[in-house]
Amino acid sequence: MTLREIKEGQSASVLTVGGSGALRQHFLDMGIIPGTDLKVVKYAPMGDPVEICLHGYELTLRLDDADKIEVEPIADAVRQKGEVRSSVSEHLGLGEGGRFHPKGSGDPLPEGTLLSFALVGNQNSGKTTLFNQLTGAKQHVGNFPGVTVDRKDGAILGRANTVITDLPGIYSMSPYSGEELVSRNFVLNEKPKGVINIVDVTNIERNLYLTMQLLEMDIPVVVALNMMDEMTGNGGSVDVNAMEAMLGVPVVPISAAKNQGVQELVDHAIHVAKYQEKPQRQDFCDESDHGGAVHRCLHAVIHLIEDHAKAAGIPLRFAACKAVEGDGLIIDQLCLDENEKETLEHITLQMEKERGLDRSAAIADMRFSFIMKICDRCVKKPGESREQTRSRNIDKVLTGKYSAIPVFIGVMGLVFYLTFNVIGAWLQDLLAMGIEALSVLADGALSSAGVNEVLHGLIIDGIFEGVGSVLSFLPIIVTMFFFLSLLEDSGYIARVAFVMDKLLRKLGLSGRSIVPLLIGFGCTVPAVMATRTLPSERDRRMTILLTPFMSCTAKLPIYAFFVDAFFPRHKALIMIGLYVLSILVGILVAFLYKKTMFKGEAVPFVMELPTYRLPSARNTMQLLWEKSKDFLQRAFSVILIATIVVWFLQSFDFRFNLVEDSRNSILAAVAGLIAPVLAPLGLGDWRIATSLISGFMAKESVVSVLEVLFSAQGGVAAAMSSLSAASLLVFSLLYTPCVAAVASVRRELGRKWALYVVIWQCAVAWIAALLVRLIGLLAGIV
Ligand code: GDP
Ligand code: MG
Repeated sequence: MTLREIKEGQSASVLTVGGSGALRQHFLDMGIIPGTDLKVVKYAPMGDPVEICLHGYELTLRLDDADKIEVEPIADAVRQKGEVRSSVSEHLGLGEGGRFHPKGSGDPLPEGTLLSFALVGNQNSGKTTLFNQLTGAKQHVGNFPGVTVDRKDGAILGRANTVITDLPGIYSMSPYSGEELVSRNFVLNEKPKGVINIVDVTNIERNLYLTMQLLEMDIPVVVALNMMDEMTGNGGSVDVNAMEAMLGVPVVPISAAKNQGVQELVDHAIHVAKYQEKPQRQDFCDESDHGGAVHRCLHAVIHLIEDHAKAAGIPLRFAACKAVEGDGLIIDQLCLDENEKETLEHITLQMEKERGLDRSAAIADMRFSFIMKICDRCVKKPGESREQTRSRNIDKVLTGKYSAIPVFIGVMGLVFYLTFNVIGAWLQDLLAMGIEALSVLADGALSSAGVNEVLHGLIIDGIFEGVGSVLSFLPIIVTMFFFLSLLEDSGYIARVAFVMDKLLRKLGLSGRSIVPLLIGFGCTVPAVMATRTLPSERDRRMTILLTPFMSCTAKLPIYAFFVDAFFPRHKALIMIGLYVLSILVGILVAFLYKKTMFKGEAVPFVMELPTYRLPSARNTMQLLWEKSKDFLQRAFSVILIATIVVWFLQSFDFRFNLVEDSRNSILAAVAGLIAPVLAPLGLGDWRIATSLISGFMAKESVVSVLEVLFSAQGGVAAAMSSLSAASLLVFSLLYTPCVAAVASVRRELGRKWALYVVIWQCAVAWIAALLVRLIGLLAGIV
């Protein structure tokens, strides 16, 4: 029977793993290997996907994919989390590593060499936490060359000539998603002097799978066993010394969150990098395992390709494993000739025959067998930890059959309510008052000093009015990011993906797309970047094209401003209405895409459900600081310049004479060309056209430009009807995303798609705004 037929709460043992290509490799990498025991935890509220537990962690996959896995039901033979497998001697506590680790061998790198490190680990293993501990606030955020995956570099605090790079969280060195390829290429091509491999010790079997592959890459590695606090707190322990002996690299128990063992980790990392100490063991195949078929095959291939691997600069053992697995990218790089390719195939076929497993499964099984040996020898598993019990209990509600969807709607509602009506709004008022007071003060000072009229106008009507009105939205944006990062870091968003997968699939997407889409409510730029975690190019493309429909925080000033001015009594209602509208339009467009450009099925959905954890205050603060800094930089660069330029253009005519009436200004003439297009929407005023153009630079500036331009008419509120305001709201909700977002789309999908996004969004916005106006006119609203 297949995994799909197993009932909730039942256990089964894997017989065969079907499927093909990258997906199948991913199944294997995640530990679904013939012989593995697993347990079905629950089905999602809508009946699909299913959550299973194996190797002590939770994984979700779709029923269609579960169908590809042949299993045999067993009587609860799954090792329950927390069962004590073997008793090992207590280890000495944090920071005892290094005793089995020969120091000072070989020649050190010359003094003053830059020691570069890569921080590699599974998702949610604590990389960001450790990275922040190591680098403090001094870090450089950018992208990996050629691709927009967040790249953070920083020097290790107090250590000269060091730089550490936080790589994307990955599960394996097989290129399943873009991020895995980025990480693999980083290690292979940029050749960091050392790798810090962070391992979540509460989930050690799956985490060590990546470690095995890193060791094969023949590069200095230090293993950091993170979350030791949780492990020891629940009665578990690790015999670190024995583990070091088995792995042949330093192993340092740490707690990144509590900053324990981190200095020792740094000492070891610097040591192995400086002396270029390669792992002492790369040979994980065992000649006594299943008759030694895999062992013989790998060693034969190692001999076969030795010269090619050397020539291509790929670590030999790694190349051999990948060649046996049939990794096309590596095989191409090796440039084997026909005979060698045939020999490789013969050796592999013979191994498959002797081992009774296909190539990928055999290699994955070889790695997991070794991991089991390590765990049996060195790890005393804790009783079910408080955190896991807590997670299970929380999940009863958050992914429960009846509660999951109401809770999701409730949580999002609460986030929006708190952001717009409570915290954000309160802080915003406070800041606005401060800016107002400052502006009055400056106005008085300028008047009494008798400063030139024009300059006075620029400072007060241009800069203070424009930048000030944008600045006062900082609190709302920061609050929104705060909640989104809380949801993401706690592990809830992964659950949302699990719960919503079936629904998103109807739109032709996968549950994973929910993450970028939700981030899109914060800012389109990181949302577009977040699509990198999607393993299918089709899903990724479609998700990117849909993110601009998720209304970003930069548009908030526009909504808040107009709702305040025109619809003060229905503030929250209209805000929520706008968001709902953008989602509805997004859904319509998704259907359209599914029927036209993106025919075919969404890709498989295989995802880990991490244990719920309280996000660390430090990570959250760091993120908020980055977001605020980013926003302030924009406010004082793009927006300031836009405001000044607009003020200038509307104050002068083509002969650079100061104009009395801005209708005669340069700006009026230029924007007047576009205004007719907007006229059917009731937005035919050149000032509105101008503000929308500047909104392309930065959405926040729509409001500031309107403020500046309408200041002579006694403000926007006096100069526009509420129907025009409504149609402007809908237009700005949907029209082209800002330059930064378009640029990130361009980096991901190319110039054509970026242009497409701009034109398409404007068209959709135009139609939607026209509908609003028509409906309004029919209903007799003016
Ligand atoms: P990343 O996805 O690998 O970057 O992981 P994060 O750094 O975001 O950490 C994931 C979660 O684990 C966060 O909620 C952290 O607060 C938590 N965490 C990180 N290190 C530790 C640790 O040493 N002990 C405990 N108990 N939690 C930790
Ligand atoms: Mg992280």
